[in-house]
Amino acid sequence: MMSQTTVIVGGGSAGWLTAGIIAAKHSPPDDGGAGTRVVLLESPDVPNLGVGEGTWPTMRDTLRRIGLSEADFLRCCDASFKQGSQFIGWHRGKGESYYHPFCAPSGYAKINLAAHWQDSYKELSFCDAVSPQGRACDEGLAPKRPQTPEYAFDLNYGYHLNAGKFVELLQRHCIDNLGVQHRLGHVEEIIPAENGDIAALQLASGETIAGDLFVDCTGFAALLIGKHYNIPFVSQREFLFNDTALAVQAEYATEDAPIASVTKATAQSAGWIWDIALPTRRGIGYVHSSQHTSLEKAEEELAAYLEADPTLAKDQPSPRKIEFQPGYREKFWHRNCVAVGVSAGFVEPLEATALILIEKSAEWISEQLPGDNAAKPVVAKRYNEITRQHWRAVIDFLKLHYVLSERDDSDYWRDHRKPESTPESLQESLSLWRSQVPWLFESNYRIELFSSASLQYVLYGMGFETDVNDHRYRQWDRDAAIANRLIRENSVQAETLIASLPTNRELLNRVRASTPAA
Ligand SMILES: Cc1cc2nc3c(=O)[nH]c(=O)nc-3n(C[C@H](O)[C@H](O)[C@H](O)COP(=O)(O)OP(=O)(O)OC[C@H]3O[C@@H](n4cnc5c(N)ncnc54)[C@H](O)[C@@H]3O)c2cc1C
Repeated sequence: MMSQTTVIVGGGSAGWLTAGIIAAKHSPPDDGGAGTRVVLLESPDVPNLGVGEGTWPTMRDTLRRIGLSEADFLRCCDASFKQGSQFIGWHRGKGESYYHPFCAPSGYAKINLAAHWQDSYKELSFCDAVSPQGRACDEGLAPKRPQTPEYAFDLNYGYHLNAGKFVELLQRHCIDNLGVQHRLGHVEEIIPAENGDIAALQLASGETIAGDLFVDCTGFAALLIGKHYNIPFVSQREFLFNDTALAVQAEYATEDAPIASVTKATAQSAGWIWDIALPTRRGIGYVHSSQHTSLEKAEEELAAYLEADPTLAKDQPSPRKIEFQPGYREKFWHRNCVAVGVSAGFVEPLEATALILIEKSAEWISEQLPGDNAAKPVVAKRYNEITRQHWRAVIDFLKLHYVLSERDDSDYWRDHRKPESTPESLQESLSLWRSQVPWLFESNYRIELFSSASLQYVLYGMGFETDVNDHRYRQWDRDAAIANRLIRENSVQAETLIASLPTNRELLNRVRASTPAA
């Protein structure tokens, strides 16, 4: 097998996560391995995006796989536990909310509780009927106990983290422990090979960097996939309108302020405000559609949100404005170049789908290395098909949050319900889900990025009705006893967890006070 050099261009979360995932799997050829040498090149002049602070539970596996201790990660990245998202005011407006937690409904692989809940348990929220996690989140509890091993849990979780510190930790770990070569240099030109591949990168210093595979992690610049190869960008603005974010790193009023265990997403007149609690600050931002509001109005809504929260300090820094075009590339892998991260696409922060896509992409690429020359076009074709399907699933899933809203207080929400703003694939799914609950069969025709459990939490959290009088639900008598037992057990388990789990703040204080691993 031939050894290779993989050159990753860009040192944001996408670049360093990809470097870590590849390098942890492949020993460098210099160490006697037959794998791939990983070089990460980043510009000293172009700053990272520096946002992206909510993850899915997949991040636990990623960190473990690349050899990081969880306690070190929590300490170094000012990270906290995230057990899902809470959507506030999305359905009809102020005063209501629902959870999309990370624990699948009880017995999910064997029994579809959604139909039973709809038939007999509507006095409970869907989340509370099928899982104890929402009630633990109401109390601000951690998903585990102090004695629970690293990465294990009572309640499934991902993280909230400081994006800048995360990149610093990944960088240190990749260089010190995984043999990644780090180069600073601004790419000025791409040097093509005769066959149209990329042969090397020309840096501003005059130096050139050659490689076999080039991973474009240059963020919105999309230097290789966009500027060099001109792979078209497929806008998704007709479906997802948000294109501007106002982001603040908000200070707590006191050091012992509670740390919420979910990302709070609060609907506003032209978008929504994310609220991510870390041990030392909160990341808060208003992502909105510039076509539906003015910058001044958006700033006012964000300021009102900050002022209304007594656990935040009175004076907060001015927000940073970030503009983006929602969409993704027509192709992600072209010749010997593959785009990962924002260069491949970005739609909006809802449900934190960006980092999980980076993890999945990097794993896939890593599996293909060093690779056989003859197979490369097939690898690229399959990667493109799978990644395109992931993006379509992301668009449908995010749009689902908007299309089910009954808010009528602004054009933003009304426009989201217009049929022409809903992808056909989602319209089809919705017509199916009116007569059948999405469950395990969903994955038969989708390559799953997230489980159909996520669809259930959003659908039934938003008041969607499935007609469960259909014949297939008639075999219930057999299952009803099991369903009743599981739903009862969830309520008992919620009480037990509330009595025994520490708060997020308590557990994180303990981890942060512990001694770092040698
Ligand atoms: C408002 C907002 C909120 C978000 N929230 C979330 C979230 O909660 N969860 C989530 O999963 N994702 C979120 N995201 C997405 C997340 O921020 C990104 O996926 C993540 O930061 C990865 O960015 P990146 O590494 O692709 O790009 P960047 O961080 O922009 O990195 C680009 C890199 O390319 C380098 N570069 C650029 N040009 C050159 C050149 N000419 N030569 C050499 N190097 C170059 C730069 O130096 C830099 O190192 C959010 C995004 C936005 C906009």
